[in-house]
Amino acid sequence: MRERQECDVLVIGGGPAGSTIAALLAEKGRHVVLLEKDQLPRFHIGESLLPLNLPLFDRLGVAEDVRRIGVYKPGAEVISDEHGVATTFRFANNPRLSVDHSYHVKRADFDRLLLDNSRRLGATVLERTRVTEVELGAEGRTKVTAIGCDGTPSSWFPRYLVDASGRDTLLASRLGFKRVDKRNNTAAVFGHFRNVLRREGDAEGMITMHLLEHGWFWMIPLPDGVMSVGLVGKQAFFKTRTGDLASFFARAVAASPSVAGRMANAEPIGALVATANYSYESRQCTGDGYILIGDAVAFIDPLFSSGVMMAMSSAAFGAEAVDAWFDDKTLGERLMRDYERKVRRGLNSLSWLIYRIDTPVLRDIFMASFDLFNTRNGLLAILGGDFYETPRLLSPLRRLQLAYGCLYLLSKAGFRLRTEGLTWRQRPREN
Ligand SMILES: Cc1cc2nc3c(=O)[nH]c(=O)nc-3n(C[C@H](O)[C@H](O)[C@H](O)COP(=O)(O)OP(=O)(O)OC[C@H]3O[C@@H](n4cnc5c(N)ncnc54)[C@H](O)[C@@H]3O)c2cc1C
Repeated sequence: MRERQECDVLVIGGGPAGSTIAALLAEKGRHVVLLEKDQLPRFHIGESLLPLNLPLFDRLGVAEDVRRIGVYKPGAEVISDEHGVATTFRFANNPRLSVDHSYHVKRADFDRLLLDNSRRLGATVLERTRVTEVELGAEGRTKVTAIGCDGTPSSWFPRYLVDASGRDTLLASRLGFKRVDKRNNTAAVFGHFRNVLRREGDAEGMITMHLLEHGWFWMIPLPDGVMSVGLVGKQAFFKTRTGDLASFFARAVAASPSVAGRMANAEPIGALVATANYSYESRQCTGDGYILIGDAVAFIDPLFSSGVMMAMSSAAFGAEAVDAWFDDKTLGERLMRDYERKVRRGLNSLSWLIYRIDTPVLRDIFMASFDLFNTRNGLLAILGGDFYETPRLLSPLRRLQLAYGCLYLLSKAGFRLRTEGLTWRQRPREN
């Protein structure tokens, strides 16, 4: 056992959330130690980023590096076999968004880059060091026990603890804060492939969401000709699986003409990976001397590619609050409450959409050429990462909710957006 070690801030986890908060607090002169159980680079899912990630890259000084390792993403394309159309959401077409593109990245490279950057800015980073025990004490007297790669335990006594342990949800699980989200009972299976047809022309670089009856596929173009392909569906759909994962996945591909067309010559790179029960939320995200950020707070769904953006933005909001706490506890605690509210607001905006994504009404809004209450710009803003805004009368989310409410009532009277005289475009359209 190494002797008692002290620091201002101890961060558990070196994903995008942990690396971001470690970098920002170290830059402010705090003594930051980050413990990461794995050795990076390593595979991680979550490869499509949002435009509003980019200001954070600038702030961290990694914008050029991310551009170098990424595939340029001008927007998102949604294809529905049921509706027989494709529709594209181009970030540049939304005047609300200050940034008109983003990137797709291999997370192995991206996470390594962010972790190295936190080192560059002064954080002490220990990889292959797993946190095994946390004893929370009043007024920051927290004890954290970790095991290093050689099996040696170490004890840390930080003044402030940051849980950025991702889906391991170290603190939320131990403190009994974690709630599984029963309203979004979905699962996913995904992998990397070669020889998947990529989009061309001005659709090049777009993420594609292929909507199916039981869920949806993503296709994310990565560097070196690799395509990330994932299938997301309700648990009930996954329970219909009889054979192995690969044949279940192949059957789902074959059942969607738009996916099958692109995957005709696909060659898998490695085995498929499955994740179940992935929606959860911690009912508390701050406490006496600790804060939860990124997936350690919650994860809803990959549909809007919001995970990394939420991880990094919650880290940036959290860094302000933690830094203030060192100088002025009262101010720090007030900022913690603001932090909690802001994080919940983002989660609630996304949940509202996710819970309804399989409903015909929301799908019709997605696929329609008919732009009720300027909803397409609302969707584009959310697809761009603008989900922290307080819902006001004309905010993107409110407009969507209004459109949804009207169409829902119309649907009760037997109308659907694509019938009763409201036409659908038969060719791809742009926002
Ligand atoms: C199927 C699926 C698809 C997704 N697609 C997208 C997408 O396209 N775009 C997007 O933005 N997001 C996507 N996400 C979400 C994204 O993966 C996460 O939101 C994001 O990685 C969260 O970052 P984080 O830093 O909070 O957690 P993580 O990236 O998971 O990092 C947590 C780190 O903590 C470490 N750790 C855990 N426990 C310990 C411990 N005890 N001691 C030390 N270290 C520890 C882990 O090793 C890990 O490195 C997807 C998620 C899923 C499930």
